[in-house]
Amino acid sequence: MLIDKADVIVTSPDRNFVTLKLTTADGLTGLGDATLNGRELAVVAYLREHVVPLLIGADASRIEDTWQFLYRSAYWRRGPVTMAAIAAVDMALWDIKGKAAGMPVYQLLGGASRKGLMAYGHASGKELPELFDSIRAHQEQGYKAIRVQTGVPTLKAIYGIAAQGADVGDASVRYDHEPARRGAKPVEEDWDTRAYLNHLPGVFEAVRNEFGPDIPLLHDGHHRMTPIQAARLGKDLEPYDLFWLEDCTPAENQEALRLVRQHTTTPLAIGEIFNTIWDFKDIIRDQLIDYVRGAVTHMGGITALKKTLDYAAMYQIKSGMHGPTDISPVGMAAAMHLGLAIHNFGIQEYMRHGAKTDQVFEQSFTWTDGYLHPGDRPGLGVELNVDEAGKYPYEQAYLPYNRLLDGTVHDW
Ligand SMILES: [Mg+2]
Repeated sequence: MLIDKADVIVTSPDRNFVTLKLTTADGLTGLGDATLNGRELAVVAYLREHVVPLLIGADASRIEDTWQFLYRSAYWRRGPVTMAAIAAVDMALWDIKGKAAGMPVYQLLGGASRKGLMAYGHASGKELPELFDSIRAHQEQGYKAIRVQTGVPTLKAIYGIAAQGADVGDASVRYDHEPARRGAKPVEEDWDTRAYLNHLPGVFEAVRNEFGPDIPLLHDGHHRMTPIQAARLGKDLEPYDLFWLEDCTPAENQEALRLVRQHTTTPLAIGEIFNTIWDFKDIIRDQLIDYVRGAVTHMGGITALKKTLDYAAMYQIKSGMHGPTDISPVGMAAAMHLGLAIHNFGIQEYMRHGAKTDQVFEQSFTWTDGYLHPGDRPGLGVELNVDEAGKYPYEQAYLPYNRLLDGTVHDW
């Protein structure tokens, strides 16, 4: 079980992905997702220059010990680059352990706690008719829960509105929401919180009138509000019974959520840009959130996110793992195995990858009647086709950024 080889593979089929592939002396392989949207090559360098040399000759069976060694021996802890690199190693070691045991990873984590994972998709539209069509299209694909994002009349571009095929360079692709754009500079978008707050409740009223009270609806505020603005939005949305309001304030200040919580019973989800349990510590202990949005890929892997979710379980807080297309099929598989095994699973974000991505990453998961299942292949159940990956070299791409109407840079 000694690690003989560690390859960092960068490929850009529909978007950029960074994958770590570990090979043991006895020929077992494991994959880990190290994709950090818009900063991919920083993780590549971290892995190649500083982690791979430490892994060669190490014992692949020692998952916890390897995690602790990579986290503590660096001295410089936390941060998205470091934690994505550690996550990739952790996932790859779980993949190898599963293959060595002849079991899917969820069995190693305690076995299945449910038949499948309820997932939500991203419906969007600049105007209501387009939004309604998008919700119906998701229902036809089996989605039982739907995130609703909408345009604001005075704004040109806004987070969460679907990019059509032309935007991603392939007319056959309609990404539900793919904000990272290929190019040398990030795209500038505009933002006006007052216009957004005035517009959004009417959208949810229209959606409830059209689709009824039963369908779980979600919304992402994408870190753009102050605490008191977020409190107002949560209150205004209460009649429409949201499954959650996500990232209502910038995530760095955990204390902001206390103010939001004092004013609204709309459930709160946060944490897709967090990278350790420490970012969640206070808001879990003080019960300021309802769902943990951490991603296996950004939180240091299965080992670290499971500890965070076990801690959250003590407070009846559930998982809501990040799962847009910048989580590679390897990272999604890791999320599915973890979500299937834990008791406090809540919901899984699930955007479909493009056809080219599905050719690069051969996957075993199933999507049946709104529920995901990672499959029963030993390990994570994903294999990388190196020849296909080689067809798509890295392309510079950035997430957009925001300016207010007066030109001030704002949270995107
Ligand atoms: Mg989000």
